Amino acid sequence: MAEPCIKVDQLRVIYNKGKSNEVRSLDGVSVEIYPEEYIIIYGPSGCGKSTLLYGISGLQAPTFGDVVVLGKNLAQMTKRETVEFHQTSIGMVFQAFYLIETLTVLDNVCLPKVFRGEDLKPRREAAMELLRRFGIAEQAERFPAQLSGGQKQRVSIARALVNNPEIILADEPVGNLDSESAQNVLDIFKEINDVDKKTLIMVTHNPEHLVYADRIIHMKDGKKVSEEINHDKRPKEALIKEVAATPEEISSELKLLMRTFKNLSLQQVGVLLIPFKAKQLLAHIISELNEEQIGAAENLLKEFLFKNIDKPALSEKLDLDFDKGGAGWNKLRAMSFTERTGRILAQAEALNGDQDTGVISFCDYLASVYHLKLDDEVMLRFRAFIKLRVENRIDRFGLEQRLDAPKRLGGAGLYKGSAEKVVREIELVMLLKYSA
Ligand code: ADP
Ligand code: MG
Repeated sequence: MAEPCIKVDQLRVIYNKGKSNEVRSLDGVSVEIYPEEYIIIYGPSGCGKSTLLYGISGLQAPTFGDVVVLGKNLAQMTKRETVEFHQTSIGMVFQAFYLIETLTVLDNVCLPKVFRGEDLKPRREAAMELLRRFGIAEQAERFPAQLSGGQKQRVSIARALVNNPEIILADEPVGNLDSESAQNVLDIFKEINDVDKKTLIMVTHNPEHLVYADRIIHMKDGKKVSEEINHDKRPKEALIKEVAATPEEISSELKLLMRTFKNLSLQQVGVLLIPFKAKQLLAHIISELNEEQIGAAENLLKEFLFKNIDKPALSEKLDLDFDKGGAGWNKLRAMSFTERTGRILAQAEALNGDQDTGVISFCDYLASVYHLKLDDEVMLRFRAFIKLRVENRIDRFGLEQRLDAPKRLGGAGLYKGSAEKVVREIELVMLLKYSA
């Protein structure tokens, strides 16, 4: 898992400190942002969103606290480093565009390159390419006053990208646009994140924008109230890929979740994990359904994990046609799926009870599902290995090695394929058993 590219630690920004009109714009905000994330900073007007964004950009110096971007503490940069940072590491987009009215569109986009002293020809080419990409090449020789709001914002996005920075910061970028232009700009941001892999931080107070984010930082009164992972963002194709998700993906995603949720209570984490649990459980069992059938089943599974529906209802709804609110499977598959789900969840529950008994029953279960032929001695080892993993004293690789190693070397002597499958199911059960 990558390191954060932005670390904001206990950031406070206080205006008019010590005076009667003192304002705590930011009151101890800590946030970590990872490369290629699409982050939305969300909250009501005046809650400190812009101040946080400007803190990250280095335009606003902290009263207290630290901001580290791409490994550098902004407060400790020399003037020269700060200039370099603004030119090459971050690109900014504002609600009010801030284009220079006396320069053409093309020259506005070239401006950050002019500051870097680059040659005229390549810099005009780079700028033109961005204008073409955003559908405003024809406006290249016009002046900002001749453009619509949406076009101006596309120019300012091109300007933010022209030096190819890793991080794009946008403060209410569609706040001044009509809905069609706003959509166009939001589509561009999505592409910059998805295709160009830029880390993107957008400030907004519009709840309709939240669907675009990987993670949402909720703010109020100068404080971060919570962080939320947007589980619905991922497109259906990603779901299909996840059917073949490897155990590594399960555990690294879990790690990300844990890290992101460290400021929430355990109970909140438990609830937030349910959609993720549903996805992983489904991915584990399903192989040959279409996207629609998988999507519908995932929703049903969430309902089941939230205990809104029981096992018989889950089975019935999986079998039911789409137009009747079902997942369009067939009876046999629906029954065997529900059965399997129930058995897996029972293992997770057993492990949450008395651990020794839980481990013994879990091992018997694994041996039966995966047709493992273990003699008494190997069964004891098998249990000891699983116990180590359940207690988190070894990681999944350590477990797989032990299961795979030959009996005479102290391992469980499983075939490689079996060891992999068993480990994968154990990781899933560990996720499922995680609760507040
Ligand atoms: P948001 O972007 O969420 O609307 P801001 O970060 O712009 O909020 O502002 C947060 C708070 O700080 C507001 O109460 C605002 O009035 C105050 N504030 C922002 N800039 C200044 C300033 N230069 N002087 C005094 N107060 C300020
Ligand atoms: Mg603002």
